[in-house]
Amino acid sequence: MLSSGRKEQFHFLADALMPGPYQCYLCDEEDMIGEDGLCDTCRAKLKYLPNPTYLQPLDGVTIGLQYSDEISSAVMRFKKHGQTEYAGFFTQFLSVPKEWNADILVPVPMHPFKKWLRRFNHTELLASYLSNAVGIPYSTKLLYKIRFTPDQKALKDPAVRRRNMRGSFSADPHVKGLRIVLIDDVFTTGATVYECAKVLKRAGADKVYLSAVTSPSH
Ligand SMILES: [Zn+2]
Repeated sequence: MLSSGRKEQFHFLADALMPGPYQCYLCDEEDMIGEDGLCDTCRAKLKYLPNPTYLQPLDGVTIGLQYSDEISSAVMRFKKHGQTEYAGFFTQFLSVPKEWNADILVPVPMHPFKKWLRRFNHTELLASYLSNAVGIPYSTKLLYKIRFTPDQKALKDPAVRRRNMRGSFSADPHVKGLRIVLIDDVFTTGATVYECAKVLKRAGADKVYLSAVTSPSH
């Protein structure tokens, strides 16, 4: 079996040799796929979200798409089933506004044990693709997950989610003065990214923004 890195190279090669993707990323339909990797039906169903406000301690947030069953199952294919080709697909829904004057992109970190289990951190892939697209560097050395926590998805109560995240991240002192954009796939209650932002600001980060692919509730 190919490692995820090798698989990705294979896809790059395939993309270079063949014009466009062959199947819709959301429904697997094989006809009339656009450069965005979608068929006309799925593209028509996408709902873009307005950028939310008042999300302290975050200084700003951009979210691409309204969450849906189709997006949810594509996210699962990407992060749980190792289909790393979804990184490029999802990156087209991430954005970094010019007025943020961002210095660096920081993927929401995964605990090393979880990364070992999954073989990759999907937010790192998103950050690397987005970095290429927008010309802002990314780093995985500025924020760490130091405590293994139960999957947030299993926890419904927002207060329990916040408690679950407390004390689970650590920031490098080099974040001092930086304008940072956190990169995540799904923005749900915000418990994870709020905790990241708190830790980064405590370590001296100037601004902390969030760019996420999708959200069910904002
Ligand atoms: Zn489709």
